[in-house]
Formats: sequence, structure tokens, C-alpha cells
Amino acid sequence: MSGEFSAIERIRRLLPDPPAGEVWIGDDAAVLRPPTGPLLLAADVVVEGVHFTAGADLADVGWKAMTANVSDIAAMGGRPLHAVMTIATPDVAGVDRLYEGVAEAVVAYRCALVGGDLSRASEVSVSVAVTGTVDGDLPPVLRSGARAGDAIFVTGALGAMAASGYALRPQARLAEGQAARRAGATAMIDVSDGLAADLGHILDSSGVGATLDALPVAAGATEEQARSGGEDYELVFTGPAELAERLPFAIRIGTCTSDPAVRPAGGGWEHSWP
Ligand SMILES: [Mg+2]
Repeated sequence: MSGEFSAIERIRRLLPDPPAGEVWIGDDAAVLRPPTGPLLLAADVVVEGVHFTAGADLADVGWKAMTANVSDIAAMGGRPLHAVMTIATPDVAGVDRLYEGVAEAVVAYRCALVGGDLSRASEVSVSVAVTGTVDGDLPPVLRSGARAGDAIFVTGALGAMAASGYALRPQARLAEGQAARRAGATAMIDVSDGLAADLGHILDSSGVGATLDALPVAAGATEEQARSGGEDYELVFTGPAELAERLPFAIRIGTCTSDPAVRPAGGGWEHSWP
């Protein structure tokens, strides 16, 4: 593909250099030191026409691709380590703009971009795989650990992305996810598909139900956007009610019930809960 090699060299110049003993972009495979703790691995793809519209600022698309992946590591209570990124695009000239957003995310999230691929395609897609780990003795926080009586929390107001037409840059909640794990969160997920859907994954995996009291709605958003709008990348987690005292960002929204058939209703929730 014309320009592929020069484009890869340009992204390399935007990024930090690897530490001694590691090889990042520029060889057949990256050479990395494994973490001492568990190795987390996740992948996510953003596709033109599905996750963003044609003509979107590609810097924002690059940021979003990194954020979606880093957010999955945050949802385990972990921190990201390395990412590889494959870009398919009809126009290699746009890749430099995309790399600008990626480079900003690499610095913001301390997640090294260590390799990837570039290919021609009929529309833009950005596929990322990311590794991470958790520090300390506590294991990663799974979706399956919620217990009846646990409180349900979110890390922030919801619906801002939907209200903006998905034009804002979302932020992965790394510090909050790690703090929730250390404080004893029993289950956690990131809000990528919307609170209704993503909390539903925790309830399904844990075999519990839930009642909801109130929902923090982002400024300018409707309750429906807060309930079912996606891509906010706030975290939803469960645990003892006392977690609220230890985690200043935790906003309690409900309680887990022993009957898995009990799902949130009322206040508009019943209309489109899946
Ligand atoms: Mg996720």
C-alpha cells in the first residue's frame, strides 16, 4: 500500500520510545516484558458507519478506539500496558490525523502502542487489542461476583455521549476502576452499550436481580439517554453499601436482589429495558 511504511514511521515518531530491552513498532513482532501479575487481554473495533459517521474527525476516531479498549481494562480494575492497532482505510492520507488522537490517548492512558498493521479497505475501521494487569494481591473484578444485597454504583453521570451525538471524547475511568477493586467491588463493567444493557450483563453473569432508585443524568441529556445511550465509558460496579464512604466518585443507583427475575422498573425504566 503506497505510503504505508512512511505512515508507520510517522506514528513511531509521535510515540514514546520503548524501555531498554523492549522492541515496539518496527519489527515483525514486539518484544515485551510480561507483567508480574495477571495478564489481561481485550480487543475492540470501531467501524465507519457503525461506531462513527463518514467524515468524522479521525483524531477523535483514534482516541475512541483506544478509549474503548482501555475502558475494558479499567472495568477489570486494571491498568493498560500495551496495544496493537490495525487500521483499514480507503485513504492513507487520513491516517496521520487518526494517529494524532491515538498518540494523545497513548500518553493520557499510559498505554504503549507497540505494533499493528495498515491496509486498504472501502471504509475506515480501527481494530485494537490491548493488554493490562492488576497490581497487588486482589484479583481482577469480574462481572459474575455481585451478591444479593450489594449496592450498585456508577462512577459518573450518564448520557453525555448520546446527548452530544457521540461527538465528545469519552474518558476511560482507570483510576476509578482500580480504586473500586482495591475497595472491594464485587462485580464491574464499563458502560459501552448503555447502562441498561451493561448492568444487565452483571445481573446475568451473577445470577441476581436489581432494583434501581435514581440515575445520575449528565447535563443536557435526557433520562432515556442516560439509561440506554452508549459509549459513556463510566463504570458500573457492585459491592457493600459502605463503598460509597471510601470512594468519593461512587454514585449509588440501586441494590442487587436475590431473585434474578427482578429487573429495574418505573421512572421510565420499564419502557425499554430489554
Ligand atoms: Mg466492556
